[in-house]
Amino acid sequence: MLYDVVIIGGGPAGLTAGLYTARARLKCLLIEKGLSGGQVATTEWIENYPGFDEGISGPELAQRMERHARRFDLEIINGTVVDVRLDGKIKEIVLDGDKLYKSKTVIISTGASPKSLDIRGEREFRGKGVSYCATCDGAFFSGERVAVVGGGDSALEEGLFLTRFAEVVYVIHRRDQFRAAKITQERARSNPKVEFILETVVEEIEGEETVRALRLRNVRTGERSRLDVKGVFIYIGYRPNTDLFRGSLALDEDGYIITDDWMATSVPGVFAAGDVRSKALKQIATAVGDGAISAVSAERYIEENF
Ligand SMILES: Cc1cc2nc3c(=O)[nH]c(=O)nc-3n(C[C@H](O)[C@H](O)[C@H](O)COP(=O)(O)OP(=O)(O)OC[C@H]3O[C@@H](n4cnc5c(N)ncnc54)[C@H](O)[C@@H]3O)c2cc1C
Repeated sequence: MLYDVVIIGGGPAGLTAGLYTARARLKCLLIEKGLSGGQVATTEWIENYPGFDEGISGPELAQRMERHARRFDLEIINGTVVDVRLDGKIKEIVLDGDKLYKSKTVIISTGASPKSLDIRGEREFRGKGVSYCATCDGAFFSGERVAVVGGGDSALEEGLFLTRFAEVVYVIHRRDQFRAAKITQERARSNPKVEFILETVVEEIEGEETVRALRLRNVRTGERSRLDVKGVFIYIGYRPNTDLFRGSLALDEDGYIITDDWMATSVPGVFAAGDVRSKALKQIATAVGDGAISAVSAERYIEENF
């Protein structure tokens, strides 16, 4: 079977691309390895997505986006893309288990994944107190002391969310200023459960069966200390999910896919949308915009080339 469009990744960018291509009656397949909705499905609350003036929970927005795309008969399958061959006129997409799909165009919307601290204990205690998703794991820490590492919007927003369960939330940040939006900083500062530990890095995560404490170092004074916590949530940024495309597409120095304004990559017939591409603002609103443009671009490419 030859598809018109294969979309890799079912976050907001991929689901929007799917909605547009399915509605344009193209033969389209979306491949998602995990939960539809991508990062949105693991975010507690979204306040800045237009149309939801009172906010909406991430999982609900994710479900609505999937439902919306399916309404136009978008075919969605669960699977991990493990290889791609993009240079020929017909593109080949290989799933784990070696299933092969062929398509006239490909839209890459594989998003980004949380960066790790790369310190002792992080890998060992993953899922045993080390987490990258407060929405998924916050409720396990009812009445406990937890730490959040990072200084951006995600760190402070998810730290505030954790105050619903935890007794104390320590926000550990290597600088003395936050990158997070001012309104989020104000909310965090006025929350009595949030305590800030600034100019400090985590050097090691300790525990036995599960996390017991963090080894900290103040970057200004060099002083070392130990902080007893049951959980640590790491929000220090993201890395693009582009390992698959290294060598076949032009990437920027951080590994994000370079596109033009029409979401076209360096390879004809291959488009990229959302957090996976090199751009200024990585948000749901910009991901859905990219998804829509990539779908229209794929449609035009097919009209002109097939
Ligand atoms: C904690 C947190 C809070 C946030 N809060 C907000 C907010 O309040 N407002 C806002 O606008 N934005 C927020 N964001 C950012 C927003 O979620 C992202 O910008 C948006 O989800 C990007 O969408 P995307 O479709 O490009 O990528 P993603 O959401 O990352 O989706 C990519 C999808 O691709 C899939 N995938 C990856 N590789 C493969 C593969 N090889 N095969 C098959 N599938 C694959 C992944 O499983 C994933 O589902 C937040 C993000 C986080 C983490």
